[in-house]
Amino acid sequence: MNASPAIVILGASALATARRVQALYPRARIHGLQGRVEGADEPYQDFGDTLRALYRAGTPIIALCAAGIVIRSLAPALQEKGAEPPVLAVAEDGSAVVPLLGGLAGVNRLAREIATALEVAPAITTSGELRFGACLLEPPQGYALADIEQGKRFVADLLGGESLRIEGDAPWLAAARLPLAEDARRRVRVTCEARPAQRDELLIHPRQVLAEVQAPVDDLAALVHKALAHAHLAPAALAALLAPRRHMADARLAEAARALGVPLRFVAGEPLPPVHGAHEGIHLRLAESPAQAAAIGRPRGRLSVIGLGPGAAEHMTPAVRRALDEAQDLLGYETYVKMAEPLRADQVRHCSDNREEMQRARHAFELAAGGRRVVVVSSGDPGVFAMAAAVIEALHESADAEWHNVELEVLPGVSAALAAAARAGAPLGHDFCLISLSDNLKPWEVIEKRLDHAGAADLAMAFYNPISRARPWQLGRALEIVRQHRAAETLVVLGRDIGRPAEALRSLTLGELQPEMVDMRTLVIIGSSLTRRFPRAGGGDWVYTPRWYR
Ligand code: SAH
Repeated sequence: MNASPAIVILGASALATARRVQALYPRARIHGLQGRVEGADEPYQDFGDTLRALYRAGTPIIALCAAGIVIRSLAPALQEKGAEPPVLAVAEDGSAVVPLLGGLAGVNRLAREIATALEVAPAITTSGELRFGACLLEPPQGYALADIEQGKRFVADLLGGESLRIEGDAPWLAAARLPLAEDARRRVRVTCEARPAQRDELLIHPRQVLAEVQAPVDDLAALVHKALAHAHLAPAALAALLAPRRHMADARLAEAARALGVPLRFVAGEPLPPVHGAHEGIHLRLAESPAQAAAIGRPRGRLSVIGLGPGAAEHMTPAVRRALDEAQDLLGYETYVKMAEPLRADQVRHCSDNREEMQRARHAFELAAGGRRVVVVSSGDPGVFAMAAAVIEALHESADAEWHNVELEVLPGVSAALAAAARAGAPLGHDFCLISLSDNLKPWEVIEKRLDHAGAADLAMAFYNPISRARPWQLGRALEIVRQHRAAETLVVLGRDIGRPAEALRSLTLGELQPEMVDMRTLVIIGSSLTRRFPRAGGGDWVYTPRWYR
Protein backbone atom coordinates (compact mmCIF):
# COMPACT_ATOMS: atom_id res chain seq x y z
CA MET A 1 0.00 0.00 0.00
CA ASN A 2 1.66 3.24 -1.06
CA ALA A 3 -1.07 5.77 -0.23
CA SER A 4 -2.31 6.68 3.24
CA PRO A 5 -5.84 5.56 3.89
CA ALA A 6 -8.85 7.83 4.13
CA ILE A 7 -10.98 7.37 7.21
CA VAL A 8 -14.57 8.17 6.32
CA ILE A 9 -17.23 8.76 8.94
CA LEU A 10 -20.90 9.66 8.77
CA GLY A 11 -21.56 10.98 12.26
CA ALA A 12 -19.83 12.48 15.28
CA SER A 13 -20.36 9.23 17.20
CA ALA A 14 -17.63 7.62 15.06
CA LEU A 15 -15.05 10.31 15.70
CA ALA A 16 -13.44 8.69 18.74
CA THR A 17 -12.83 5.40 16.92
CA ALA A 18 -11.68 7.33 13.85
CA ARG A 19 -9.02 9.04 15.96
CA ARG A 20 -7.78 5.68 17.27
CA VAL A 21 -7.42 4.42 13.70
CA GLN A 22 -5.74 7.67 12.70
CA ALA A 23 -3.17 7.16 15.45
CA LEU A 24 -2.08 4.05 13.51
CA TYR A 25 -1.79 5.93 10.19
CA PRO A 26 -0.81 9.49 11.06
CA ARG A 27 -1.03 10.69 7.46
CA ALA A 28 -4.59 9.41 7.07
CA ARG A 29 -7.26 12.12 6.92
CA ILE A 30 -10.64 11.85 8.56
CA HIS A 31 -13.43 12.72 6.13
CA GLY A 32 -16.62 13.79 7.88
CA LEU A 33 -20.06 14.70 6.58
CA GLN A 34 -20.33 18.47 6.45
CA GLY A 35 -22.73 19.84 9.03
CA ARG A 36 -22.85 16.60 11.00
CA VAL A 37 -19.24 16.11 12.03
CA GLU A 38 -17.23 18.85 13.67
CA GLY A 39 -13.50 18.35 13.83
CA ALA A 40 -13.01 16.17 10.73
CA ASP A 41 -9.95 16.94 8.58
CA GLU A 42 -11.90 16.94 5.32
CA PRO A 43 -15.58 17.87 5.23
CA TYR A 44 -17.52 16.23 2.42
CA GLN A 45 -20.95 16.84 0.92
CA ASP A 46 -22.01 13.47 -0.37
CA PHE A 47 -20.97 10.13 1.10
CA GLY A 48 -21.31 8.12 -2.12
CA ASP A 49 -19.45 10.64 -4.29
CA THR A 50 -16.68 10.89 -1.74
CA LEU A 51 -16.26 7.15 -1.39
CA ARG A 52 -16.21 6.61 -5.15
CA ALA A 53 -13.74 9.44 -5.73
CA LEU A 54 -11.40 8.00 -3.10
CA TYR A 55 -11.77 4.54 -4.56
CA ARG A 56 -10.99 5.76 -8.07
CA ALA A 57 -7.96 7.60 -6.75
CA GLY A 58 -6.73 4.27 -5.41
CA THR A 59 -6.96 5.52 -1.84
CA PRO A 60 -7.39 2.81 0.80
CA ILE A 61 -10.74 3.39 2.50
CA ILE A 62 -11.57 2.75 6.14
CA ALA A 63 -15.28 3.52 6.45
CA LEU A 64 -16.69 3.69 9.96
CA CYS A 65 -20.21 2.64 9.13
CA ALA A 66 -22.32 -0.35 8.13
CA ALA A 67 -20.66 -2.62 5.55
CA GLY A 68 -23.84 -2.51 3.47
CA ILE A 69 -23.64 1.27 2.98
CA VAL A 70 -20.07 0.94 1.75
CA ILE A 71 -20.94 -1.90 -0.63
CA ARG A 72 -23.91 -0.05 -2.13
CA SER A 73 -21.95 3.19 -2.51
CA LEU A 74 -19.02 1.55 -4.26
CA ALA A 75 -21.04 -0.78 -6.46
CA PRO A 76 -21.03 1.54 -9.52
CA ALA A 77 -17.26 2.00 -9.30
CA LEU A 78 -16.52 -1.73 -9.06
CA GLN A 79 -17.30 -2.28 -12.74
CA GLU A 80 -14.53 0.04 -13.82
CA LYS A 81 -11.15 -1.28 -14.69
CA GLY A 82 -8.30 -0.20 -12.46
CA ALA A 83 -6.45 -1.06 -9.31
CA GLU A 84 -8.58 -2.06 -6.37
CA PRO A 85 -7.52 -0.30 -3.18
CA PRO A 86 -8.21 -1.92 0.18
CA VAL A 87 -11.69 -1.11 1.52
CA LEU A 88 -12.72 -1.92 5.08
CA ALA A 89 -15.83 -1.35 7.13
CA VAL A 90 -15.17 -0.72 10.80
CA ALA A 91 -17.97 -0.60 13.37
CA GLU A 92 -18.19 2.96 14.66
CA ASP A 93 -17.70 1.76 18.24
CA GLY A 94 -14.59 -0.15 17.15
CA SER A 95 -16.07 -3.57 17.88
CA ALA A 96 -15.70 -5.05 14.37
CA VAL A 97 -13.20 -4.77 11.51
CA VAL A 98 -14.40 -6.17 8.19
CA PRO A 99 -12.10 -6.30 5.15
CA LEU A 100 -14.33 -5.93 2.07
CA LEU A 101 -12.24 -5.34 -1.04
CA GLY A 102 -8.64 -5.19 -2.15
CA GLY A 103 -7.45 -8.70 -1.35
CA LEU A 104 -4.57 -8.12 -3.75
CA ALA A 105 -3.77 -4.78 -2.16
CA GLY A 106 -3.29 -6.00 1.40
CA VAL A 107 -6.74 -5.44 2.89
CA ASN A 108 -6.28 -8.32 5.33
CA ARG A 109 -3.01 -6.92 6.58
CA LEU A 110 -4.72 -3.58 7.15
CA ALA A 111 -7.61 -5.36 8.90
CA ARG A 112 -5.16 -7.10 11.24
CA GLU A 113 -3.35 -3.87 12.07
CA ILE A 114 -6.56 -2.01 12.84
CA ALA A 115 -8.08 -4.91 14.76
CA THR A 116 -4.94 -5.20 16.89
CA ALA A 117 -5.13 -1.50 17.71
CA LEU A 118 -8.82 -1.77 18.56
CA GLU A 119 -8.26 -5.01 20.49
CA VAL A 120 -10.75 -7.08 18.52
CA ALA A 121 -10.44 -10.00 16.08
CA PRO A 122 -10.51 -9.01 12.40
CA ALA A 123 -13.26 -10.61 10.31
CA ILE A 124 -10.82 -12.35 7.93
CA THR A 125 -12.63 -14.74 5.61
CA THR A 126 -9.78 -16.00 3.41
CA SER A 127 -9.20 -19.64 4.52
CA GLY A 128 -5.61 -20.09 3.39
CA GLU A 129 -4.68 -16.84 4.95
CA LEU A 130 -6.32 -17.79 8.25
CA ARG A 131 -4.34 -20.98 8.42
CA PHE A 132 -0.96 -19.88 7.08
CA GLY A 133 -0.89 -16.23 8.06
CA ALA A 134 -0.17 -15.29 4.44
CA CYS A 135 -2.09 -15.44 1.21
CA LEU A 136 -0.24 -17.79 -1.14
CA LEU A 137 -2.32 -16.70 -4.10
CA GLU A 138 -1.32 -13.05 -3.81
CA PRO A 139 2.41 -12.88 -4.28
CA PRO A 140 3.77 -9.38 -3.68
CA GLN A 141 4.56 -6.82 -6.33
CA GLY A 142 7.20 -8.11 -8.72
CA TYR A 143 5.84 -11.67 -8.75
CA ALA A 144 3.03 -13.23 -10.76
CA LEU A 145 1.08 -16.38 -10.07
CA ALA A 146 1.19 -18.54 -13.21
CA ASP A 147 -2.22 -20.18 -12.84
CA ILE A 148 -4.82 -19.05 -10.32
CA GLU A 149 -7.02 -22.17 -10.70
CA GLN A 150 -4.08 -24.47 -10.15
CA GLY A 151 -3.13 -22.23 -7.22
CA LYS A 152 -6.54 -22.68 -5.60
CA ARG A 153 -6.22 -26.46 -5.83
CA PHE A 154 -2.76 -26.18 -4.35
CA VAL A 155 -3.98 -24.20 -1.36
CA ALA A 156 -6.88 -26.63 -0.93
CA ASP A 157 -4.34 -29.50 -0.81
CA LEU A 158 -2.37 -27.68 1.88
CA LEU A 159 -5.54 -27.05 3.85
CA GLY A 160 -6.20 -30.79 3.47
CA GLY A 161 -2.96 -31.56 5.26
CA GLU A 162 -0.27 -31.67 2.57
CA SER A 163 3.15 -30.20 3.31
CA LEU A 164 5.33 -28.25 0.90
CA ARG A 165 8.85 -27.16 0.03
CA ILE A 166 10.02 -23.93 -1.55
CA GLU A 167 12.22 -23.91 -4.64
CA GLY A 168 13.59 -20.57 -5.74
CA ASP A 169 13.63 -17.26 -3.99
CA ALA A 170 10.38 -16.38 -2.17
CA PRO A 171 11.44 -13.92 0.52
CA TRP A 172 7.85 -12.92 1.37
CA LEU A 173 7.04 -16.46 2.54
CA ALA A 174 9.72 -16.43 5.23
CA ALA A 175 7.32 -15.10 7.85
CA ALA A 176 4.38 -17.38 6.94
CA ARG A 177 3.32 -20.37 9.03
CA LEU A 178 3.66 -22.96 6.28
CA PRO A 179 3.79 -26.75 6.75
CA LEU A 180 7.31 -27.02 5.31
CA ALA A 181 8.99 -30.39 4.80
CA GLU A 182 12.10 -31.21 2.75
CA ASP A 183 10.54 -34.31 1.22
CA ALA A 184 7.13 -32.74 0.57
CA ARG A 185 5.41 -33.64 -2.71
CA ARG A 186 3.96 -30.17 -3.10
CA ARG A 187 6.27 -27.30 -3.89
CA VAL A 188 6.25 -23.56 -4.41
CA ARG A 189 8.39 -22.95 -7.46
CA VAL A 190 9.69 -19.46 -8.18
CA THR A 191 11.15 -19.30 -11.67
CA CYS A 192 11.24 -17.28 -14.89
CA GLU A 193 11.04 -20.46 -16.89
CA ALA A 194 8.06 -20.87 -19.23
CA ARG A 195 6.10 -24.05 -18.58
CA PRO A 196 2.64 -25.06 -17.42
CA ALA A 197 2.15 -25.33 -13.67
CA GLN A 198 2.18 -28.95 -12.64
CA ARG A 199 -0.50 -30.56 -10.48
CA ASP A 200 1.69 -30.58 -7.40
CA GLU A 201 3.18 -27.08 -7.58
CA LEU A 202 2.41 -23.46 -7.08
CA LEU A 203 4.24 -21.80 -9.96
CA ILE A 204 5.24 -18.18 -9.44
CA HIS A 205 7.11 -16.06 -11.97
CA PRO A 206 9.40 -13.34 -10.68
CA ARG A 207 9.32 -10.31 -12.94
CA GLN A 208 12.99 -9.99 -13.66
CA VAL A 209 13.26 -10.33 -17.44
CA LEU A 210 13.89 -7.14 -19.42
CA ALA A 211 13.26 -7.03 -23.15
CA GLU A 212 15.58 -4.49 -24.73
CA VAL A 213 14.98 -3.20 -28.24
CA GLN A 214 17.55 -1.20 -30.19
CA ALA A 215 15.19 0.45 -32.65
CA PRO A 216 11.39 0.47 -32.76
CA VAL A 217 9.73 -1.67 -35.43
CA ASP A 218 6.16 -2.66 -36.25
CA ASP A 219 4.63 -5.56 -34.35
CA LEU A 220 7.19 -5.32 -31.61
CA ALA A 221 5.03 -7.14 -29.06
CA ALA A 222 4.90 -10.23 -31.25
CA LEU A 223 8.67 -10.13 -31.64
CA VAL A 224 9.15 -9.95 -27.87
CA HIS A 225 6.82 -12.92 -27.42
CA LYS A 226 8.85 -14.85 -29.96
CA ALA A 227 12.10 -13.96 -28.24
CA LEU A 228 10.67 -15.06 -24.87
CA ALA A 229 9.45 -18.36 -26.32
CA HIS A 230 12.83 -18.89 -27.97
CA ALA A 231 14.57 -18.41 -24.61
CA HIS A 232 11.97 -20.52 -22.73
CA LEU A 233 11.04 -17.56 -20.53
CA ALA A 234 7.50 -17.00 -19.25
CA PRO A 235 5.77 -13.85 -20.57
CA ALA A 236 4.61 -13.20 -16.98
CA ALA A 237 8.26 -12.91 -15.95
CA LEU A 238 8.69 -9.88 -18.20
CA ALA A 239 9.33 -6.81 -16.05
CA ALA A 240 9.66 -4.08 -18.67
CA LEU A 241 10.37 -3.15 -22.24
CA LEU A 242 13.61 -1.16 -22.52
CA ALA A 243 14.55 1.19 -25.36
CA PRO A 244 17.12 3.92 -26.01
CA ARG A 245 16.10 7.42 -24.93
CA ARG A 246 16.29 8.87 -28.41
CA HIS A 247 13.23 6.80 -29.38
CA MET A 248 11.17 8.05 -26.48
CA ALA A 249 8.37 9.57 -28.57
CA ASP A 250 7.97 6.57 -30.92
CA ALA A 251 4.38 5.37 -30.66
CA ARG A 252 5.28 1.80 -31.62
CA LEU A 253 7.18 1.37 -28.37
CA ALA A 254 4.28 2.58 -26.25
CA GLU A 255 1.90 0.36 -28.17
CA ALA A 256 4.11 -2.71 -27.73
CA ALA A 257 4.48 -2.10 -23.99
CA ARG A 258 0.70 -1.74 -23.70
CA ALA A 259 0.16 -4.96 -25.62
CA LEU A 260 2.69 -6.76 -23.43
CA GLY A 261 1.18 -5.30 -20.27
CA VAL A 262 4.53 -4.07 -18.95
CA PRO A 263 6.03 -0.63 -18.34
CA LEU A 264 8.14 0.99 -21.03
CA ARG A 265 11.40 2.40 -19.77
CA PHE A 266 14.28 4.21 -21.38
CA VAL A 267 17.97 3.76 -20.88
CA ALA A 268 20.95 5.92 -21.79
CA GLY A 269 24.18 4.04 -21.43
CA GLU A 270 23.78 2.82 -17.85
CA PRO A 271 25.00 -0.71 -16.96
CA LEU A 272 22.35 -3.34 -17.63
CA PRO A 273 21.94 -6.93 -16.37
CA PRO A 274 23.55 -9.67 -18.50
CA VAL A 275 21.96 -10.82 -21.74
CA HIS A 276 20.21 -14.15 -21.34
CA GLY A 277 19.17 -14.54 -24.94
CA ALA A 278 18.82 -12.57 -28.17
CA HIS A 279 16.40 -13.05 -31.01
CA GLU A 280 15.66 -10.83 -34.02
CA GLY A 281 17.04 -7.68 -32.45
CA ILE A 282 15.45 -8.23 -29.01
CA HIS A 283 17.90 -8.69 -26.14
CA LEU A 284 16.46 -10.46 -23.13
CA ARG A 285 18.28 -9.50 -19.97
CA LEU A 286 17.90 -11.14 -16.62
CA ALA A 287 18.00 -8.98 -13.48
CA GLU A 288 18.94 -10.50 -10.13
CA SER A 289 15.58 -9.75 -8.58
CA PRO A 290 12.26 -8.12 -9.42
CA ALA A 291 13.33 -5.13 -7.35
CA GLN A 292 16.48 -4.70 -9.42
CA ALA A 293 14.51 -5.09 -12.66
CA ALA A 294 12.02 -2.45 -11.53
CA ALA A 295 14.77 0.08 -10.90
CA ILE A 296 16.30 0.01 -14.38
CA GLY A 297 15.72 2.88 -16.83
CA ARG A 298 13.13 5.54 -16.45
CA PRO A 299 9.67 6.03 -17.92
CA ARG A 300 8.71 8.64 -20.49
CA GLY A 301 7.48 11.59 -18.52
CA ARG A 302 3.98 12.85 -19.09
CA LEU A 303 2.60 16.34 -18.82
CA SER A 304 -1.18 16.67 -18.72
CA VAL A 305 -2.62 20.15 -18.86
CA ILE A 306 -6.07 19.72 -17.44
CA GLY A 307 -9.23 21.71 -16.84
CA LEU A 308 -11.14 20.92 -13.65
CA GLY A 309 -14.37 22.41 -14.89
CA PRO A 310 -16.08 25.17 -12.92
CA GLY A 311 -15.97 23.46 -9.54
CA ALA A 312 -18.28 20.55 -8.87
CA ALA A 313 -16.72 17.10 -9.19
CA GLU A 314 -19.58 15.96 -11.41
CA HIS A 315 -18.55 18.49 -14.06
CA MET A 316 -15.03 17.11 -14.26
CA THR A 317 -14.39 14.74 -17.14
CA PRO A 318 -13.35 11.16 -16.36
CA ALA A 319 -10.15 11.71 -18.38
CA VAL A 320 -9.21 14.58 -16.07
CA ARG A 321 -10.06 12.53 -12.98
CA ARG A 322 -7.79 9.75 -14.27
CA ALA A 323 -4.92 12.16 -14.97
CA LEU A 324 -5.25 13.52 -11.44
CA ASP A 325 -5.28 10.03 -9.97
CA GLU A 326 -2.14 9.11 -11.87
CA ALA A 327 -0.26 12.34 -11.21
CA GLN A 328 2.92 12.35 -9.18
CA ASP A 329 3.29 16.13 -9.29
CA LEU A 330 0.62 18.81 -9.48
CA LEU A 331 1.31 22.39 -10.39
CA GLY A 332 -1.06 25.29 -10.28
CA TYR A 333 -2.53 28.16 -8.43
CA GLU A 334 -3.15 26.97 -4.89
CA THR A 335 -6.94 27.41 -5.05
CA TYR A 336 -7.13 25.16 -8.13
CA VAL A 337 -4.82 22.50 -6.70
CA LYS A 338 -7.11 22.41 -3.66
CA MET A 339 -10.09 22.05 -5.99
CA ALA A 340 -8.44 18.92 -7.42
CA GLU A 341 -8.71 17.11 -4.07
CA PRO A 342 -8.88 14.42 -2.84
CA LEU A 343 -5.19 13.91 -3.53
CA ARG A 344 -2.96 11.32 -2.00
CA ALA A 345 -0.25 12.21 0.46
CA ASP A 346 2.39 10.89 -1.96
CA GLN A 347 1.37 13.36 -4.67
CA VAL A 348 3.61 16.42 -4.62
CA ARG A 349 1.90 19.80 -4.81
CA HIS A 350 3.80 22.69 -6.31
CA CYS A 351 1.55 25.64 -5.62
CA SER A 352 2.50 29.03 -6.96
CA ASP A 353 1.07 32.46 -7.48
CA ASN A 354 -1.48 32.80 -10.25
CA ARG A 355 0.71 35.12 -12.30
CA GLU A 356 3.81 32.97 -12.67
CA GLU A 357 2.44 31.13 -15.70
CA MET A 358 5.56 30.75 -17.87
CA GLN A 359 7.71 29.85 -14.89
CA ARG A 360 5.19 27.22 -13.84
CA ALA A 361 5.07 25.84 -17.39
CA ARG A 362 8.86 25.46 -17.48
CA HIS A 363 8.89 23.86 -14.07
CA ALA A 364 6.31 21.36 -15.30
CA PHE A 365 8.50 20.42 -18.28
CA GLU A 366 11.55 20.01 -16.07
CA LEU A 367 9.68 17.57 -13.85
CA ALA A 368 8.15 15.66 -16.78
CA ALA A 369 11.48 15.49 -18.64
CA GLY A 370 12.82 13.70 -15.57
CA GLY A 371 10.25 10.94 -16.07
CA ARG A 372 7.52 12.16 -13.71
CA ARG A 373 3.77 12.17 -14.35
CA VAL A 374 2.91 15.82 -14.04
CA VAL A 375 -0.43 17.61 -14.07
CA VAL A 376 -0.84 21.34 -14.57
CA VAL A 377 -4.16 22.38 -13.11
CA SER A 378 -6.48 25.08 -14.45
CA SER A 379 -10.06 25.75 -13.56
CA GLY A 380 -12.68 25.47 -16.29
CA ASP A 381 -10.93 24.69 -19.56
CA PRO A 382 -7.13 24.85 -19.71
CA GLY A 383 -7.22 26.50 -23.12
CA VAL A 384 -9.49 29.37 -22.05
CA PHE A 385 -7.43 32.14 -20.39
CA ALA A 386 -5.46 29.46 -18.60
CA MET A 387 -2.33 27.32 -18.62
CA ALA A 388 -2.48 25.35 -21.89
CA ALA A 389 -1.19 28.15 -24.10
CA ALA A 390 1.63 28.99 -21.68
CA VAL A 391 2.71 25.35 -21.52
CA ILE A 392 2.77 24.99 -25.28
CA GLU A 393 4.54 28.31 -25.68
CA ALA A 394 7.22 27.16 -23.22
CA LEU A 395 7.73 24.08 -25.37
CA HIS A 396 7.80 26.15 -28.56
CA GLU A 397 10.56 28.30 -27.08
CA SER A 398 12.61 25.33 -25.97
CA ALA A 399 15.21 23.46 -28.03
CA ASP A 400 15.59 20.82 -25.33
CA ALA A 401 14.92 17.41 -26.91
CA GLU A 402 13.99 16.03 -23.49
CA TRP A 403 11.15 18.53 -23.22
CA HIS A 404 9.92 17.71 -26.72
CA ASN A 405 9.99 14.00 -25.86
CA VAL A 406 7.60 14.46 -22.95
CA GLU A 407 4.15 12.98 -23.57
CA LEU A 408 2.17 16.21 -23.61
CA GLU A 409 -1.62 16.19 -23.53
CA VAL A 410 -4.28 18.87 -23.04
CA LEU A 411 -7.48 17.61 -21.44
CA PRO A 412 -10.49 19.89 -21.89
CA GLY A 413 -12.87 21.02 -19.19
CA VAL A 414 -16.16 22.87 -18.92
CA SER A 415 -15.31 26.55 -19.16
CA ALA A 416 -16.99 29.11 -16.90
CA ALA A 417 -18.95 30.66 -19.79
CA LEU A 418 -20.45 27.31 -20.74
CA ALA A 419 -21.21 26.37 -17.13
CA ALA A 420 -22.83 29.74 -16.40
CA ALA A 421 -24.76 29.74 -19.67
CA ALA A 422 -26.13 26.27 -18.96
CA ARG A 423 -27.38 27.37 -15.54
CA ALA A 424 -29.17 30.34 -17.12
CA GLY A 425 -30.61 28.39 -20.07
CA ALA A 426 -28.87 29.06 -23.38
CA PRO A 427 -27.75 32.70 -23.61
CA LEU A 428 -24.83 31.58 -25.81
CA GLY A 429 -27.16 29.61 -28.07
CA HIS A 430 -26.17 31.63 -31.14
CA ASP A 431 -22.79 33.12 -32.18
CA PHE A 432 -20.76 34.45 -29.30
CA CYS A 433 -17.28 35.45 -28.25
CA LEU A 434 -15.20 35.08 -25.09
CA ILE A 435 -13.23 38.12 -23.97
CA SER A 436 -10.95 38.52 -20.99
CA LEU A 437 -11.16 42.03 -19.61
CA SER A 438 -7.77 41.66 -17.98
CA ASP A 439 -5.14 43.99 -19.40
CA ASN A 440 -2.33 42.19 -17.57
CA LEU A 441 -1.17 40.45 -20.74
CA LYS A 442 -2.62 42.65 -23.51
CA PRO A 443 -2.99 46.41 -23.97
CA TRP A 444 -6.28 47.93 -22.91
CA GLU A 445 -6.72 49.53 -26.36
CA VAL A 446 -6.92 46.05 -27.91
CA ILE A 447 -9.68 45.12 -25.50
CA GLU A 448 -11.62 48.29 -26.30
CA LYS A 449 -11.32 47.64 -30.01
CA ARG A 450 -12.53 44.05 -29.67
CA LEU A 451 -15.47 45.09 -27.52
CA ASP A 452 -16.38 47.67 -30.13
CA HIS A 453 -16.25 45.13 -32.95
CA ALA A 454 -18.08 42.41 -31.00
CA GLY A 455 -20.73 44.98 -30.11
CA ALA A 456 -21.09 46.00 -33.76
CA ALA A 457 -21.28 42.36 -34.85
CA ASP A 458 -24.14 41.72 -32.40
CA LEU A 459 -22.29 38.78 -30.88
CA ALA A 460 -23.28 37.64 -27.42
CA MET A 461 -20.23 38.09 -25.18
CA ALA A 462 -18.85 36.36 -22.15
CA PHE A 463 -16.46 38.42 -20.04
CA TYR A 464 -13.78 36.58 -18.09
CA ASN A 465 -11.68 38.36 -15.45
CA PRO A 466 -14.24 41.19 -15.48
CA ILE A 467 -12.87 43.20 -12.55
CA SER A 468 -10.35 43.04 -9.73
CA ARG A 469 -8.85 45.29 -7.09
CA ALA A 470 -5.96 46.07 -9.43
CA ARG A 471 -8.33 46.72 -12.36
CA PRO A 472 -11.23 48.67 -10.85
CA TRP A 473 -12.39 50.87 -13.75
CA GLN A 474 -12.06 48.62 -16.78
CA LEU A 475 -15.48 46.96 -16.53
CA GLY A 476 -17.24 50.33 -16.39
CA ARG A 477 -15.39 51.45 -19.50
CA ALA A 478 -16.18 48.14 -21.25
CA LEU A 479 -19.88 48.62 -20.54
CA GLU A 480 -19.76 52.13 -21.98
CA ILE A 481 -18.49 50.67 -25.25
CA VAL A 482 -21.05 47.88 -25.26
CA ARG A 483 -23.86 50.39 -24.60
CA GLN A 484 -22.94 52.22 -27.78
CA HIS A 485 -24.18 49.14 -29.67
CA ARG A 486 -26.79 47.52 -27.43
CA ALA A 487 -30.08 48.79 -26.02
CA ALA A 488 -30.56 49.18 -22.27
CA GLU A 489 -33.02 46.21 -22.38
CA THR A 490 -30.28 43.84 -23.62
CA LEU A 491 -30.15 40.85 -21.28
CA VAL A 492 -27.21 40.18 -19.02
CA VAL A 493 -26.41 37.08 -16.97
CA LEU A 494 -24.11 37.18 -13.97
CA GLY A 495 -22.84 33.80 -12.83
CA ARG A 496 -20.77 33.79 -9.66
CA ASP A 497 -18.95 30.75 -8.28
CA ILE A 498 -20.82 28.50 -10.66
CA GLY A 499 -20.58 24.85 -9.66
CA ARG A 500 -19.25 25.75 -6.22
CA PRO A 501 -21.03 25.87 -2.87
CA ALA A 502 -21.54 29.66 -3.02
CA GLU A 503 -23.02 29.60 -6.54
CA ALA A 504 -25.21 32.59 -7.46
CA LEU A 505 -26.92 33.31 -10.74
CA ARG A 506 -28.77 36.42 -11.75
CA SER A 507 -30.34 37.79 -14.90
CA LEU A 508 -30.82 41.52 -15.43
CA THR A 509 -30.62 44.12 -18.17
CA LEU A 510 -27.66 46.05 -19.48
CA GLY A 511 -29.35 49.19 -18.17
CA GLU A 512 -29.42 47.76 -14.65
CA LEU A 513 -25.90 46.37 -14.67
CA GLN A 514 -23.45 48.15 -12.36
CA PRO A 515 -19.76 47.20 -12.01
CA GLU A 516 -20.30 46.88 -8.22
CA MET A 517 -22.49 43.80 -8.89
CA VAL A 518 -19.49 42.00 -10.33
CA ASP A 519 -16.30 40.60 -8.83
CA MET A 520 -13.45 38.45 -10.08
CA ARG A 521 -15.36 35.25 -9.34
CA THR A 522 -18.13 36.32 -11.71
CA LEU A 523 -18.64 35.47 -15.33
CA VAL A 524 -20.57 38.17 -17.21
CA ILE A 525 -22.68 37.31 -20.23
CA ILE A 526 -23.98 40.16 -22.38
CA GLY A 527 -26.75 38.97 -24.66
CA SER A 528 -27.14 39.82 -28.32
CA SER A 529 -30.07 41.89 -29.60
CA LEU A 530 -32.12 38.66 -29.77
CA THR A 531 -31.38 37.26 -26.31
CA ARG A 532 -34.64 36.92 -24.39
CA ARG A 533 -36.03 35.61 -21.11
CA PHE A 534 -39.19 34.37 -19.44
CA PRO A 535 -40.01 33.36 -15.86
CA ARG A 536 -39.21 29.82 -14.87
CA ALA A 537 -41.43 27.80 -12.57
CA GLY A 538 -39.86 27.88 -9.15
CA GLY A 539 -38.31 31.31 -9.52
CA GLY A 540 -35.81 33.16 -11.66
CA ASP A 541 -35.75 33.25 -15.45
CA TRP A 542 -34.81 31.15 -18.41
CA VAL A 543 -32.49 33.21 -20.60
CA TYR A 544 -31.76 32.12 -24.15
CA THR A 545 -30.57 33.30 -27.52
CA PRO A 546 -32.48 31.60 -30.33
CA ARG A 547 -30.65 29.63 -33.01
CA TRP A 548 -32.20 31.75 -35.76
CA TYR A 549 -31.36 35.29 -36.70
CA ARG A 550 -33.11 38.01 -38.60
N1 SAH B 1 -9.90 28.63 -17.54
C1 SAH B 1 -11.04 29.21 -16.86
C2 SAH B 1 -11.04 30.72 -16.86
C3 SAH B 1 -9.91 31.36 -16.11
S1 SAH B 1 -10.01 33.11 -16.09
C4 SAH B 1 -12.31 28.68 -17.51
O1 SAH B 1 -12.26 28.11 -18.60
O2 SAH B 1 -13.37 28.81 -16.89
C5 SAH B 1 -10.79 33.40 -14.54
C6 SAH B 1 -12.17 33.99 -14.73
O3 SAH B 1 -13.06 32.96 -15.13
C7 SAH B 1 -12.78 34.55 -13.47
O4 SAH B 1 -12.36 35.88 -13.27
C8 SAH B 1 -14.27 34.46 -13.77
O5 SAH B 1 -14.64 35.51 -14.64
C9 SAH B 1 -14.35 33.19 -14.57
N2 SAH B 1 -14.69 32.01 -13.77
C10 SAH B 1 -13.92 30.94 -13.54
N3 SAH B 1 -14.58 30.01 -12.80
C11 SAH B 1 -15.78 30.52 -12.56
C12 SAH B 1 -16.95 30.04 -11.86
N4 SAH B 1 -16.95 28.83 -11.27
N5 SAH B 1 -18.04 30.83 -11.83
C13 SAH B 1 -18.04 32.03 -12.44
N6 SAH B 1 -16.99 32.52 -13.11
C14 SAH B 1 -15.88 31.78 -13.18
